[in-house]
Amino acid sequence: MSGIYIHIPFCKQACHYCDFHFSTSMKKKDQLISALAKELELRKDEFKNTTVETIYFGGGTPSVLSTAELQYLIDAVYLNYKVIDDSEITLEANPDDLNEDVIMALAKSPINRLSIGIQSFFEKDLILMNRAHNAEEAKLCLQLATQYFDNISLDLIYGIPNSTNAEWLENIQTALSFGVPHISSYALTVEPKTALASFIAKGVIDNVDDDLAHEQFHILIEALAQAGFDHYELSNFGKKGFYSKNNSAYWLGKPYLGIGPSAHSFNGNERAWNVKNNTIYITKINQEQLPLEVEVLSLNDKYNEFVMTGLRTIWGVSLTAVEKQFGKPFLEYLLQQANQYVNKQMLYIEDNNLKTTKTGKFLSDGIASDLFMLN
Ligand code: SF4
Repeated sequence: MSGIYIHIPFCKQACHYCDFHFSTSMKKKDQLISALAKELELRKDEFKNTTVETIYFGGGTPSVLSTAELQYLIDAVYLNYKVIDDSEITLEANPDDLNEDVIMALAKSPINRLSIGIQSFFEKDLILMNRAHNAEEAKLCLQLATQYFDNISLDLIYGIPNSTNAEWLENIQTALSFGVPHISSYALTVEPKTALASFIAKGVIDNVDDDLAHEQFHILIEALAQAGFDHYELSNFGKKGFYSKNNSAYWLGKPYLGIGPSAHSFNGNERAWNVKNNTIYITKINQEQLPLEVEVLSLNDKYNEFVMTGLRTIWGVSLTAVEKQFGKPFLEYLLQQANQYVNKQMLYIEDNNLKTTKTGKFLSDGIASDLFMLN
């Protein structure tokens, strides 16, 4: 089983914090959509021995595409790949693209899951982040979307400068009031060369505060646990039966094909990434060349990835799998390195799986790096 990720590199406007690959000019949209369909065809042999379990439209903002354009790409997937009957097909969407007509048309298409970029229900946060929607649109779109889709996820951002814990709790409660079964939530991070980084450097916006982010992360965990959500991955919370199949596949190390500019692929042994430039991407694909770079993963790389993704999940790092896939020396090294964190009650072992405790969870990426095998 495997997944297909399709990157739609267009956005109406640039959010101040974002360092993903996108263009705010739609001039090349038609050419790019044709190139995506062509890449799907060119790479079909990579998945000739496997079935597709999930299709994920990410970006960028995939909801800038019309339902007909999305259907065209879904048809290209079905034409070239074996897709299982109950596949999960997710569309990332922004509230300003989702009026009732659009939602109704999407509900009639094969898309069966929406991941909506809400980020905050407070106008001041949306302005600070330069989101394209306002708070009213965020609420209206959720009210409509929940009438037509059962499987909805929404994104929320915490640790926004000058936000209070009370406002953050109100954001979570507002999200819950719509009855969505899945929430993804990320700390606001300051990526180099973004508008946010420059505003902070000039003192226009206060810097993000790690302590505030930490407090808000714990408020989130408590509130969502009380509301019956499982914290199944560091940034992801779902009701039973609504965990993202697409994301779970990444964390469980299943192969995925990344289609479109800047998209990443993984086949178990190699990681590949497409060029981050729409024009070069279109030109190369039209010449039937794949615009990608490939990195062959060493055993250490695979072990490091296995430990990092495992520690972020509810399932932890399977010690049995570490021994089986990487050998006894890796298992011994892992246990030896993990010991300091077990003593500090940040890690624990349950049913032969190494997991983070409540205290260790927020720091799981940092802990994982201490468990890495260096080349
Ligand atoms: S809509 Fe998403 S991809 Fe586009 S700029 Fe904002 S955060 Fe980045």
